[in-house]
Amino acid sequence: MGVYSDVDKTLDIERRFDRAKMAADSVKDNLMNPIGIYDNFMREKEMLADQLVNDFATAIREKQFAVFYQPKFNVKGDEPVLVSAEALVRWKHPKLGMVSPGIFIPLFEKNGLIQELDHYVWSETAARIRDWKERLNISLPVSVNVSSIDLYDPKLIDRLLAILEKNGLSVEKLLLEITESAYTESSDQIVEKVERLRELGFKIEMDDFGSGYSSLSMLSYMPIDTLKLDMQFIRSAFGEHRDTRLLEAMIRLADSFGVTTIAEGVETAEQVSVLKHMGCDIIQGYYFSRPLPVDEFEKFITK
Ligand code: C2E
Ligand code: CA
Ligand code: CA
Repeated sequence: MGVYSDVDKTLDIERRFDRAKMAADSVKDNLMNPIGIYDNFMREKEMLADQLVNDFATAIREKQFAVFYQPKFNVKGDEPVLVSAEALVRWKHPKLGMVSPGIFIPLFEKNGLIQELDHYVWSETAARIRDWKERLNISLPVSVNVSSIDLYDPKLIDRLLAILEKNGLSVEKLLLEITESAYTESSDQIVEKVERLRELGFKIEMDDFGSGYSSLSMLSYMPIDTLKLDMQFIRSAFGEHRDTRLLEAMIRLADSFGVTTIAEGVETAEQVSVLKHMGCDIIQGYYFSRPLPVDEFEKFITK
């Protein structure tokens, strides 16, 4: 239950309900405390959210969103080999400074703006892939994040193909990361859409694998090419109560289904070496590099 004191009668009624709902959401799944009360903290969060939503159109127009790139390395051989990168969006807000996607992505997923933002990120990324090919003669596939909302867009496939065509890219250059929870939300529709994307040649990476409620049996019918193990696996395996068994089992399992594994959030040389021994194919994380702005990433890949 959520409580909002109905004091400000000038506020429209929907907003008053929204606030009660927000209070209710704050105690969701909290059995010890079944009643949430709208407070100043929620108010501030709401104000920030309002501001970000209001500023969105200007931000797109003025190109305040910047795409950063983080490299992924194949670690199968003796030396790590750069195989691709992930595009991660940042918001250089004129008043708030650098805003993390952890704040605005969930917000834009709620109100649908994510579609426009993702479209923007995909276009920027595709243009960048082409630019690197032309200017640096480096042909690097890059993965983009595809929100579950995007998967309900009937024009998704046309949009992606149009972006590729505009930049003269073949379909395997733009890898698609789809979060695991998208699959569990509404399996049939999503699976069908993803299958069509794969038929067209798109490579699909299942992001955050193991973070949600996916059952392992899902792997046997999920149309995917790559599993991206959730960062939490790395955290638990190398954390205080060090236990690498689950991590190893996941990598073996993926391997038996013939899918490539990516470990993300890898920060130390020790983690790299353990993952490599377990048979993990690709590694992404601060150990190799943080996500970098274009100019720095270019220095990194030309080195
Ligand atoms: P994600 O797709 O799981 O991205 C990985 C996140 O882990 C990124 O955070 C990245 O900066 C961070 N990271 C990478 N290596 C390490 C490491 O070694 N250690 C630690 N502690 N963190 C590491 P970021 O950039 O803040 O992105 C957060 C989430 O926002 C992403 O999670 C993704 O779900 C979402 N996101 C980012 N860009 C986009 C986008 O363009 N579209 C959509 N739909 N979602 C995006
Ligand atoms: Ca991702
Ligand atoms: Ca992830």
